[in-house]
Amino acid sequence: MNRDLYGKLIFELSHQGRRGFSLPRNEFPAYEIPAGLRRETPLGLPQVDEPTVVRHYTNSSNNNFGVDTGFYPLGSCTMKYNPKINDEMAADPVMSRLHPLQPQSTTQGALKAYYTLQQMLSEIGGMAEFTLNPFAGAHGELTGLMTIHAYHDSREDWARTKVIVPDSAHGTNPASAAVCGYEIVEVKSMADGTVDVADLKSKLGPDIAAMMMTNPNTVGMFEKNIPEIAKAVHDCGALMYYDGANLNPMLGVARPGDMGFDVMHINLHKTFSTPHGGGGPGSGPVGVRAGLEQFLPNPRVVKNADGTYSAICDDSALGRISSWIGNFAVDLRALSYILSLGAENLKMVGPLSTLNANYIMHALRDLYLLPIEGPCKHEFVFDGLADKSTGVTTLNVAKRLLDFGFHAPTIYFPLLFHESLMIEPTETESRETLDAFIAAMRQIAKEAAETPDLVKDAPHNTPISHPDDTEAALHPVVTWAELN
Ligand SMILES: *Cc1c(COP(=O)(O)O)cnc(C)c1O
Repeated sequence: MNRDLYGKLIFELSHQGRRGFSLPRNEFPAYEIPAGLRRETPLGLPQVDEPTVVRHYTNSSNNNFGVDTGFYPLGSCTMKYNPKINDEMAADPVMSRLHPLQPQSTTQGALKAYYTLQQMLSEIGGMAEFTLNPFAGAHGELTGLMTIHAYHDSREDWARTKVIVPDSAHGTNPASAAVCGYEIVEVKSMADGTVDVADLKSKLGPDIAAMMMTNPNTVGMFEKNIPEIAKAVHDCGALMYYDGANLNPMLGVARPGDMGFDVMHINLHKTFSTPHGGGGPGSGPVGVRAGLEQFLPNPRVVKNADGTYSAICDDSALGRISSWIGNFAVDLRALSYILSLGAENLKMVGPLSTLNANYIMHALRDLYLLPIEGPCKHEFVFDGLADKSTGVTTLNVAKRLLDFGFHAPTIYFPLLFHESLMIEPTETESRETLDAFIAAMRQIAKEAAETPDLVKDAPHNTPISHPDDTEAALHPVVTWAELN
């Protein structure tokens, strides 16, 4: 709901007969629309002049917050800057006007783009082959688990009905495993946030199909015991699944394939820069190690001996998981991003995103409670303010940040701590932006001690201050008619 500069909704500015458009003269005869197909009441659209319409949409867009507006340290979501050249490439009519079912002899450029991206992701992930078909991270997880299921099936190993997921995992991990028909076995984290290997070993056996892991994990810690974990899981006949939704810290540093993972997905919309606020669009390519390629879904894009490219469907175990080959425009953005950075600069993403996160962590750890010691990777978690006597919560801090022009970090996730405040600055932010954010966070901690109500009543500068979250999610009122 957007009010104009004088506090009015566009509906309240409506005047009977006022117009914001003019149509060309109608040169066709008039036809009556059959009575049964006609509206019984007129459509309740506001009747306003053109400047009012333009201001309505311009002001609405100004109420939105995005990476192009300001710093967006939303942990686990990798809200990095998305270079505009990616959008230009994806919008090029040469690519955007293709039809998926055109003869493949006329879509060689697009197929080459798919193939090249598959090859690059395989190199980046240390995998043998990638499919670009899945539409999102969670869809990639499901596809990857279906691949693992198909692998065990092909060996007639039907006793494997369970998937192990650490308690720190992203919620989509257990959800995807459940959708794939698996029972979830939870493995505990130790005090430093990493997997408890002893607890894991006690849960391994002939009934385990796979172990799902994120590394660095959801609290931003690198799983140092990964070789031992991978060996133990493989020794019991299960496969290792890597949740590579946030591959940022890994770029230029390590590859999941080299750590012993068999199957992985990557969120192109996070690490490889597609704008992804509000739930889309996304792409969750799945990679597999050598020996598992035949279980990937149809269609697969391959390079033929004569140098041409084909999208082929074979009797693969999975069949199709998408209508065609994934979200082409997101794939093009990722390809453009990788090519424009080049190998050298791509290798700087991991170190720089890690440096930025540690810089903020050290500048704030005297005022905010750091539950896990040690250098973090691309993100870290505070357990709220260090001084718990003020009654100021993580929610209050997050809302007060909006007054300073920053997007709030991820809050109350992961579930390991009561007051989780999860910060991921990404590599694309300047030192000045990080310093301004640190200054705001320090100011809020000071206010919490001196004038706690100022923080508890925040935000003070936004169009809406304190909606009832539950009510807004369950019964959103988004139409004028209902407002009346
Ligand atoms: C974002 C995320 C996902 C889910 O990705 P979607 O594209 O939102 O489905 C899975 N795992 C982790 C660790 C994530 O950060």
